Amino acid sequence: MSTYRVAQVTAPNGRFELVEREMPQPGPGQVRIAVEACGVCHSDALFVSGALPGVTFPEVPGHEIAGHIEELGQDVRERGWKVGDRVAVGWFGGSCGHCTPCRRGDFIVCPNLKVPGWAYDGGFGAQVVAPADALARIPEGLSAADAGPMACAGVTTFNGLRRSSARPGDLVAVLGLGGLGHLGVQYAVAMGFETVAIARGAEKADFAKQLGAHHYVDSTSGTPVAEALQSLGGAQAVLATAGSSDAITATVDGLAPRGELVAIGADTAPMGISPAQLLMAARVVRGHPSGTSQDVEDTMAFSALHGIRPMTETVPLDDADTAYQKMLAGKARFRMVLTYG
Ligand SMILES: [Zn+2]
Ligand SMILES: [Zn+2]
Repeated sequence: MSTYRVAQVTAPNGRFELVEREMPQPGPGQVRIAVEACGVCHSDALFVSGALPGVTFPEVPGHEIAGHIEELGQDVRERGWKVGDRVAVGWFGGSCGHCTPCRRGDFIVCPNLKVPGWAYDGGFGAQVVAPADALARIPEGLSAADAGPMACAGVTTFNGLRRSSARPGDLVAVLGLGGLGHLGVQYAVAMGFETVAIARGAEKADFAKQLGAHHYVDSTSGTPVAEALQSLGGAQAVLATAGSSDAITATVDGLAPRGELVAIGADTAPMGISPAQLLMAARVVRGHPSGTSQDVEDTMAFSALHGIRPMTETVPLDDADTAYQKMLAGKARFRMVLTYG
């Protein structure tokens, strides 16, 4: 019997343990992927903690998957996939195809979204069985360790910016310089926005400039963030990647008329925004989910074209627990990425 290795947690907030499981076979419309790399995302905590409804234990998270197709299920060859194709699977792990958003073609807001680690075992395992509609083709020149984070952190920021109302030349602020924000700044610059990075501490200014930011705002400097943004002319869009409702709220008065706050950093605390702050200047506050497999493919192609890469720290799957705890404690300087030898 052939087996494969997974890192799993057996109870909410448990530690990861390595186990061998029986090799899964892809069903109709599915493929089996030999995972080469999987990013560790902050959202993995939603699964490991059991906070999301329907998460079952043992739990295998991981939705920043990159590898190659190892086996095709029935009806997959007809869709243009073959064994050996390099593919990524992100937060969008497939959709139901029959709900109202799916029937309208708006797959990313499918209420039955098949997120890896939730709907099926995720990328903290050496093999993953995923539906073919979840696959994004990895372009040549992009390594698996760089492609994995593109499937969640990358596509979320890339799509959040390109779906915003900002146009080339507009002032765009990226709040946070972590796993999402450091990619967001690079995308914003490459898309032609006058780009402001906002983070905590004067020492991050150099890093922001390194990523290409035209301006840096230190949110701890004493000058309110909104004031700093207004002194630059007001932001047409703020891409809020920091998972802090207070930090996100503090940017609202920095929006230009008809400016848009795009929230992608997850926090469950309420945001203290008054209608008065929004209505006179016709400001917009909205959430932005990730992106479909085609969006992931677009993200990776754009990244390859413009030389944009996530900053990663690779760790073998055996050390999944260490990598996860480091991410959780906010001690990971870069995106932690598991690799499979
Ligand atoms: Zn994620
Ligand atoms: Zn659906």
